[in-house]
Amino acid sequence: MDLYEYQARELLEEQGIATPKAVFAQNSHEVAQAAEGIGYPCVVKAQVKIGHRGQAGGVRLAKTRDEAILVSEDILPMTIHKHKVSGVLVAEAKNILHEYYVSISVDRSSRDFDVLATANGGTEVEEIAREHPESVKRLHIDALEDFDIEAATKMAESIGFYHADVDQAAQILLKMWRCFKENDATLVEINPLAKIGDPDDESSKTLCALDAKISLDDNAAFRHDGWKRFADPVHVDPFEQKAREHGLHYVHLNGSVGVIGNGAGLVMSSLDAVSGAGEDQGTNVKPANFLDIGGGASAQVMCDSLEIVLSDPQVESVLVNVYGGITSCEQVAEGILEALDKLGSSKPLVVRFDGNAAAEGLSILARADRANLHVAQTMEEAAQQAAHLAANGREVR
Ligand code: GDP
Ligand code: MN
Repeated sequence: MDLYEYQARELLEEQGIATPKAVFAQNSHEVAQAAEGIGYPCVVKAQVKIGHRGQAGGVRLAKTRDEAILVSEDILPMTIHKHKVSGVLVAEAKNILHEYYVSISVDRSSRDFDVLATANGGTEVEEIAREHPESVKRLHIDALEDFDIEAATKMAESIGFYHADVDQAAQILLKMWRCFKENDATLVEINPLAKIGDPDDESSKTLCALDAKISLDDNAAFRHDGWKRFADPVHVDPFEQKAREHGLHYVHLNGSVGVIGNGAGLVMSSLDAVSGAGEDQGTNVKPANFLDIGGGASAQVMCDSLEIVLSDPQVESVLVNVYGGITSCEQVAEGILEALDKLGSSKPLVVRFDGNAAAEGLSILARADRANLHVAQTMEEAAQQAAHLAANGREVR
């Protein structure tokens, strides 16, 4: 789960990392109130779960109440890189003297944690990384060793923090690591980690997190009751919501062939097979969803799954690809028939079974002799048929 900036800031603040004063607002009335409380100049920042808001016009400075309202009226209706703005953060504007970039993320290949950092942070950090790769440092935190203040200080030095910033940067690195660990995060990023203050007053200069991006590991949700507050009611996909309630692994996609299978690998291959078939047939038909019904593919689970997929108006045909293991394909076949009785859907279904009692399962389906229920012997054949039916669905029905 990705967090909005206004949520990510909360987790940084819990660790004692300095952030500018800020208030989340969702309409111009709230913006005016927030701006009055914060004072001027303030920055009005689009809240979207995507970067490069600044370059897209989603981060604007306001010097008065009227300006704050005006820019928020520009930003609130925006869609940035396909993400609808869900509100704005009205934040105290800081005088930026320098911008650093620091992130901690999971590194699956080396099985440890990556610290990516550069003394040249800000909105052009990707360009800088491309043109001056040597200025971006990639360091590691070994989860089995202590990441203490000594290690953090060494890290801050090798990142290239200015000498005067090293001690504070080391503290921030430690706090970011604590934030990462305690929240089961997969990413904690601060960009810019800004040096702010009065250029003529050395004692006023300090480091402050002006923007934060945090992703949390959904697999750890069971031990973080507090994450419920991060739920995003505006942007929940109703099908994903329903699947979650049934404990199913479902991802909504853009195409028209519903895909149900057991095991993530098998479902992924099925998605590829459907896209490939759409390309072969020149229709460009694509999968409508990923749905993994998992190991115990019982009749009930199959019934719930079909109910979700068939209720999606985008779906024109469904491919069911099941490898019978603990649950036999006979049971899965019963589940499919049950679901069809219950749902009375007229959308075509193509079923391919393999493994435990595959032949028996297929013959149960064949005997049932339902219009719009097709069986296939191979995944390839099933995908071709499902893609064809999706493109020509109306003729068949
Ligand atoms: P992003 O474009 O989505 O990464 O949004 P950021 O929050 O990082 O803002 C983009 C840029 O806006 C920053 O790199 C800063 O240059 C600028 N910015 C953000 N907050 C302030 C601020 O308080 N004062 C000033 N002067 N500039 C800011
Ligand atoms: Mn940023």
